[in-house]
Amino acid sequence: MTENAYRFFRNGFDGAGDFIRAGDGTPVFTYDDLDAASASWANHFAEHGVTPGDRVIVQVEKSPWNLIAYFACLRAGFIYLPLNTAYLEEEVAYFVSDAEPSLIICDPAFASRFGNSNCPVLTLDAEGQGSARPERPGAYPVADSDGNDTAILLYTSGTTGRPKGAMITHRNLVTNARALFGAWQWQPDDVLLHALPVFHIHGLMVATHLAVMGGCPMLFLPRFDPEAVIEALPHATVYMGVPTNYVRLLADKRLTPEVCRNMRLFTSGSAPLLTRTFDEFAERSGHRIVERYGMTETGMNTSNPLDGERRPGTVGRPLPGVEIKLEGDPAVLMVRGENVFKGYWRMPEKTREEFDGEGFFRTGDVVTVDDDGYVSIVGRDKDMIISGGLNVYPKEIESVIDRLDGITESAVIGLPHPDFGEAVTAIVVAADEGARDEAGIIDALKARLAGFKVAKRVFFVDALPRNTMGKVQKAALRDTFQDTFQDTSE
Ligand code: AMP
Repeated sequence: MTENAYRFFRNGFDGAGDFIRAGDGTPVFTYDDLDAASASWANHFAEHGVTPGDRVIVQVEKSPWNLIAYFACLRAGFIYLPLNTAYLEEEVAYFVSDAEPSLIICDPAFASRFGNSNCPVLTLDAEGQGSARPERPGAYPVADSDGNDTAILLYTSGTTGRPKGAMITHRNLVTNARALFGAWQWQPDDVLLHALPVFHIHGLMVATHLAVMGGCPMLFLPRFDPEAVIEALPHATVYMGVPTNYVRLLADKRLTPEVCRNMRLFTSGSAPLLTRTFDEFAERSGHRIVERYGMTETGMNTSNPLDGERRPGTVGRPLPGVEIKLEGDPAVLMVRGENVFKGYWRMPEKTREEFDGEGFFRTGDVVTVDDDGYVSIVGRDKDMIISGGLNVYPKEIESVIDRLDGITESAVIGLPHPDFGEAVTAIVVAADEGARDEAGIIDALKARLAGFKVAKRVFFVDALPRNTMGKVQKAALRDTFQDTFQDTSE
């Protein structure tokens, strides 16, 4: 039976102890506090005119109170719409006009971004102070839900076109939490070290939901900081990160098996984890990272196993309840199940385009599946390069470059070219000065790959542009280097 997701989570945390602790273990909220505060906050929002099904936009710094605001919305059936704190006035104006919220909650420092809104704007700072915080306790019932109501409206960053609001239902949340809880064998005495943002599914639907479903404490850090994470690790059993988190932890000498002595599980997702990172982390910590894969529209789709082989370079097999199939050439992954969202907000056409006749959703991720059912993400269909009429998968070339001596990482993109349509171009981060060798890299590619896949140019940068979730921003790279081949007929 499906129900309001808050009620589902409360069944899990009812009677449990600490909900949130600071990094040093100091208790901040208990689960009883969460239940009482979510009612008070929901009541407070309702007093400002919010009714079930209305949108509440939240753009605040990560804090325990941010989560209280979230659970208040979930409890009351208000649609929670979190925004990345990096979005500025113009971007925010689009979300406000598209989502038509009944309430906005923002950090006091961001209030001017919401100057032209037609609804109440309340404030909430990182210490939990502001007009969003109720002045007195209040009651609010848990809303009824058939499971199909939208719980969260989460805008996808989208590489092209305007951002789309993914309508994630109460049923999606429950389904996703249940699948991961089982797959990762959540334990009653687990303690989650939480250093992810909570405006994204990874920090909210993967990390927070599992702790709450289990009634387990979270060591809640305001942001990822390698030092703070390493200090908190001995007090935790589970850590969930994006690949760049792991790279930065590896750069710190204090990462040892000793600090990880109580750890049961490290997971990674949101962007590809390099095999090299997986191997180095296993050596330094004694733990093999469990890589999983999902997206805003689908929640989590696949995971490497807890028991069984964790294969680096793959995202594991489909989670229980997730059906997959491949479509087209290159093969794009299609997904069906109760984890999949119900559609894009006020975009019925776009929604229809992205689902096939059998109800499978097109992820846009180009994949391969091996004989044992392990899925590997080869790239995004939009990142596919067509050079001289031939398909080139960036990942294949990136993998060769990343293995060369002195190379940290690379991103391969297609740039407009008068003869080829698109020209394969590599943007490379080199650890050693000596590895900044364009001709050397091109020769190495020629020795290993068909000619049409070899990069026509190689550029060196100090770092690849990434968003907060660690995803390489290929669109930004294409912008920077777009004129490279325009004046040549090379
Ligand atoms: P988002 O909706 O922001 O979570 O982005 C989802 C996209 O991130 C997916 O469609 C994938 O392209 C990418 N992604 C997520 N997890 C992984 C992973 N483990 N490996 C490679 N790409 C991933």
